Amino acid sequence: MTRVPLGRTGLQISPLVYGTLPLGPLQARLSAAEGGKLIRYALEQGVNLLDTAELYGTYEHIRHGIAGFSGEVLIASKTHAADATTARAHVERALREMGRERLDIVHLHGARLQQPFVERSEVFAELLKMRDEGKIAQLGLSTHYVCAVYQAAEQPDVEVIHPLINRQGMGIIDGSADEMATAIAAASQAGKGIYAMKALAGGNLIDKAREHIRYVAGLPGVDALALGMTGTAEIDANLALLTASGEDEEAWHKLEQRRRKLVIMEQFCKGCGACVPACTNDALQLVEGKAKVDEENCILCGYCGAACPEFMIRVV
Ligand code: SF4
Ligand code: SF4
Repeated sequence: MTRVPLGRTGLQISPLVYGTLPLGPLQARLSAAEGGKLIRYALEQGVNLLDTAELYGTYEHIRHGIAGFSGEVLIASKTHAADATTARAHVERALREMGRERLDIVHLHGARLQQPFVERSEVFAELLKMRDEGKIAQLGLSTHYVCAVYQAAEQPDVEVIHPLINRQGMGIIDGSADEMATAIAAASQAGKGIYAMKALAGGNLIDKAREHIRYVAGLPGVDALALGMTGTAEIDANLALLTASGEDEEAWHKLEQRRRKLVIMEQFCKGCGACVPACTNDALQLVEGKAKVDEENCILCGYCGAACPEFMIRVV
């Protein structure tokens, strides 16, 4: 299986990173056993980095997937904590629930933070402590901001960046795709390992998936791509594309026809509005006491689902 260096971390990773968000309760709601089977399949095909987060609810899926697997497994998680105590609790939970002694990468889950190292300085300091204690190997930043990629590039303790990039620039909060690509190249030049997210904008760009995946994979400085996958056909197709072992035209044709969408279960929506500020893309508003989505702006990131106390928002 092809391996690529992740910046200067010393890690050698597969060009395809398993994005586990869609397996869990925010999206497809697969059981831990079902999700675990897919993860295991991907590991057996050569994927060696699994991307998760406290918010994703997929630690159990990963635990199932890696149980008894003898090959290499690297795990990246993220904490959205706003204080040190919660950050420590998030890391401890990840270690406990996935049965690990050390996490390979922990990101500040900074999607919507314009100045993550200022706004989360206490959390970052706690993560540094946990790195010194041996509970974390590498620190990173996941972000939807161009400016935050530059800030991470200047942080000597940040080794990995997980930025949002797709050809349309969907979901980038403060700039275009070109501007994000320039920031990524600069961060890579500064020695940071980069694995990109949302190359398909959460499914919105699925109809030309190959083109969009190739675009991100070909950007200078992008070491690998995290893609969410809910079937073995997707895993096979993505691996073939990213490892240049050849494309299966029929499989890709089927995948590119598949569309996902955001569903708000209106009859149960209480109209509390908690989902509206959770959306960085201005895709939600309250209309006559119910949340409504503007599908043009929605990148199917699932953050609104996490913010809904009624758990009434799904990507299907
Ligand atoms: S509506 Fe929800 S899924 Fe769509 S972009 Fe906003 S937060 Fe993400
Ligand atoms: S957070 Fe949930 S209940 Fe509240 S407005 Fe949004 S969809 Fe409705």
